Amino acid sequence: MEELRPTQRTRLKRLPKRGSYERETIDSILDEALVCHVGFAYWDQPYVIPTLHVRDGDRLYVHGSAASRMLNTAASELPVCVTVTLIDGLVLARSAFHHSVNYRSVVILGNAARVDDREAKLGVLRALVEKIAPGRWAHTRTPTDKELAATMVLQLPIEEASAKVRTGHAMDDEDDYALLHWAGIIPLRLAAGAPIIDPRMPSGATTPEHVLARAESFTMKSGHR
Ligand SMILES: Cc1cc2nc3c(=O)[nH]c(=O)nc-3n(C[C@H](O)[C@H](O)[C@H](O)COP(=O)(O)OP(=O)(O)OC[C@H]3O[C@@H](n4cnc5c(N)ncnc54)[C@H](O)[C@@H]3O)c2cc1C
Repeated sequence: MEELRPTQRTRLKRLPKRGSYERETIDSILDEALVCHVGFAYWDQPYVIPTLHVRDGDRLYVHGSAASRMLNTAASELPVCVTVTLIDGLVLARSAFHHSVNYRSVVILGNAARVDDREAKLGVLRALVEKIAPGRWAHTRTPTDKELAATMVLQLPIEEASAKVRTGHAMDDEDDYALLHWAGIIPLRLAAGAPIIDPRMPSGATTPEHVLARAESFTMKSGHR
């Protein structure tokens, strides 16, 4: 199993047993999460901006308006920190102190670079659309040259990265297990509602299979406890 080498910057200090540098763990969190947060310093002000992402092999890709400060700053090879978080449950303890959440998270450090090659850029946009709903690209109008020019795509190597995973019940102090305050987990997961058809669709239009399947895929996910 491929494992990244922890660096001085990615080595977990608190509860390092929850950390993982396995690509399989890192990749599965990146692939399940729909949103990442890109952190960067702009002059002396740090910004952390939420955005969509997609992973392909050893690279994480984000995209957006060519006018975006986040993308332009990151594209100038400045260091970025990308974080991804999945919340799996609320953890209620007997003591106030030991309340927590179950989660899976990833931190990636590195320098982002622009993807300018037309075909490579189109490939990333396709992957982003396919991540929203597998099979979707074939059911959309492809981007025009103008739309492509207005879109910036950035890639970040997944080389200096860490994952952290919390599972299980609260870890109360031994004496507190005699208390009768309720302790346990409230599992959480992202849920999809029934697809809502755009009112400007022609009357009588039906919802295609790939859309129904995507909505259903959220129901199927068991999540981590
Ligand atoms: C949803 C959620 C809620 C949390 N709530 C709390 C809280 O209330 N209080 C609290 O102290 N901590 C909380 N944490 C944990 C927090 O993210 C840090 O792991 C922790 O604060 C301290 O980490 P550290 O000192 O080991 O790492 P730091 O010294 O801060 O970081 C060193 C390196 O460790 C790695 N790392 C650290 N944290 C993570 C992470 N979460 N995922 C992946 N890599 C990581 C990174 O590569 C980082 O560069 C929470 C995490 C999540 C995902």
